[in-house]
Amino acid sequence: METQKKSKIRENKKSSQTPVNNTISREERLRKILIEKKDILVKEASKEIKKFQSGENKQIIETVRDDGDLSVVDLSEDISLKQLSSHRETLIKIDTALQKIDEGTYGICEECNEEISEKRLAIMPFAIYCKDCQEQKEIMAKMEQFVEQQQ
Ligand SMILES: [Zn+2]
Repeated sequence: METQKKSKIRENKKSSQTPVNNTISREERLRKILIEKKDILVKEASKEIKKFQSGENKQIIETVRDDGDLSVVDLSEDISLKQLSSHRETLIKIDTALQKIDEGTYGICEECNEEISEKRLAIMPFAIYCKDCQEQKEIMAKMEQFVEQQQ
């Protein structure tokens, strides 16, 4: 834990030393952020996959099985798989965002073609809808769910 903290601080120092280039466009800035995020995710996902391949999880399963507690196994396997699939989903979102930056359509709502606010993109860099359209979509989804439940 301690060494991890130290290396993080070192990284921060390094990045603050690089001169700030004001001529970098918003798109380039976003592209950099997205590529960095992607790198981290790819590394994390491959670590998870390696764990499966090296049998680290299998060992846990066998240990727990000795204790007769299978529900714990199900849970831990489930969490790993969920983590992997959420990594995958985020990676797809990053790729889509990068593609949109290339096409010059990044930050434009797919529904109404209005610009998505910078504030919203700062919080949700993968947002493909503006706030209004997103809210409308959520309401529609809830309504559909409600109708399904009634049937
Ligand atoms: Zn919209």
